Amino acid sequence: MTFDELKLSEALLRAVKAEGYTIPTPIQTQAIPPALEGRDVLGCAQTGTGKTAAFALPILQRLTQGRPTPPAQGRPIRALILTPTRELASQIGESFQAYGRFTKLSWAVIFGGVGQNAQEQALRRGVDVLVATPGRLLDLMSQGLVSYKALEVFVLDEADRMLDMGFIHDVKRVIAALPPKRQTLFFSATMPPEIQALSKSLLKDPARVEVVPQSTTAEKVDQRLYFVEREQKRHLLVHLLGDAGIRRALVFTRTKHGANRVTKQLAAARISAEAIHGNKSQNARERALDAFKDGSCRVLVATDIAARGIDIEGITHVINFDLPNIPESYVHRIGRTGRAGAAGTALSFCDTEERAYLKDIERTIRRHVPVVADHPFRSGQSAPAPTSLDAAQGGQRAQGGQRPQGGAQRSGEARGGGAQAHGPRGEGRRRRRGRGGSGAQGGGARQSQGQHRGSEGRSSSGQAPAPAPAARPAPPPVRTAPKWL
Ligand code: AMP
Repeated sequence: MTFDELKLSEALLRAVKAEGYTIPTPIQTQAIPPALEGRDVLGCAQTGTGKTAAFALPILQRLTQGRPTPPAQGRPIRALILTPTRELASQIGESFQAYGRFTKLSWAVIFGGVGQNAQEQALRRGVDVLVATPGRLLDLMSQGLVSYKALEVFVLDEADRMLDMGFIHDVKRVIAALPPKRQTLFFSATMPPEIQALSKSLLKDPARVEVVPQSTTAEKVDQRLYFVEREQKRHLLVHLLGDAGIRRALVFTRTKHGANRVTKQLAAARISAEAIHGNKSQNARERALDAFKDGSCRVLVATDIAARGIDIEGITHVINFDLPNIPESYVHRIGRTGRAGAAGTALSFCDTEERAYLKDIERTIRRHVPVVADHPFRSGQSAPAPTSLDAAQGGQRAQGGQRPQGGAQRSGEARGGGAQAHGPRGEGRRRRRGRGGSGAQGGGARQSQGQHRGSEGRSSSGQAPAPAPAARPAPPPVRTAPKWL
């Protein structure tokens, strides 16, 4: 299928061509036609599949074709895109900039952690499309700065991440303020039970589109597992990085402190590495990302939240220095490599305490991760029995929807108020190259952006921040109901 066959307007076809796209990705082929018909869409797809264009193009087409007479003052918000992090919000804003460059529509991006003046002014001037993170949006709503009277389309992006980051109540509060008569496009990489329930309550007879089957890992990523004790992990990492074939590695740690520690240890072993996480200044994060992209830094050490939304091409290896305690994070992490048909490798370290996480992960991806038994730092503990992948045991999470609590990433970084992650500049997304950064004005389109600094970075429900993340997670077998149940 070609873009022409998708019945997109001339202005959008030109924009897509200018981006260098020749054929639509599977999510675009499946989602664009029903979305153009005005149907609700339930999309199971993760970042990197082209899902932004899958919702942005139909929205732009709808808003251009059915343009209402503008009111005397400002423009009413006609489409709202709710996304969990400032990085994703910025990237979506840039996508609207790219795809809408030959339209006369306007958009604004708003998120927390920065002053609200620029965002307030953009809203007062009026925008057709608003891209927002939930916390700041609620703040602006409570100040009477946001009107949804003219809202036609609502997009909930990365719904499962909203849940993981503890934003789901805020999301529900925003949704309660929207007019019930609207088109809703709902995207989530995974569909845990809470998210299924939310989708059911929001969508009317949706077109279901799924590009990566739920919770299965990209086939093209070569996955390997190393049993190693915690104190030996750094030696194993240095040992593995002795292989020059690991040209660009993204290393995941569970905590910010862990990321710093690993970066220092690599530096001591003369391996160029940078850390990105919320305690770093915006400039430091941007420098680290630029160095990683231009190859002067071979290893980027990141936490889940900080890495969210990073779309850097050519990551040859993802290394899970710590296994994530949320199985879906494993899927997200290894999806950072093996992009655009390239081969990718994911190496995971598993210490004794993390063996329960491994079981969760293997049940979620419904396969065993091959074990590398022959390495110099292998654990003295005998290998655990293979995870049973049958439905009865594997259904534990799927049915109960329970996740281990005390996930430092989720409760600490997302809700703890620290500025997190990096800005949108220089993240190496194909379409940004040559356009000169996030603030570029494109074509006839008008873009009003809030400052691209800071992050959602707060619990927007006004609650006190959660305690600082623990250095180690709670022992894996302890499972309690998540806070939001
Ligand atoms: P997304 O999943 O929307 O974040 O997109 C991931 C990457 O794929 C971005 O760099 C897009 O610019 C790019 N992309 C989206 N659609 C296409 C397409 N049809 N052809 C080539 N690249 C695309």
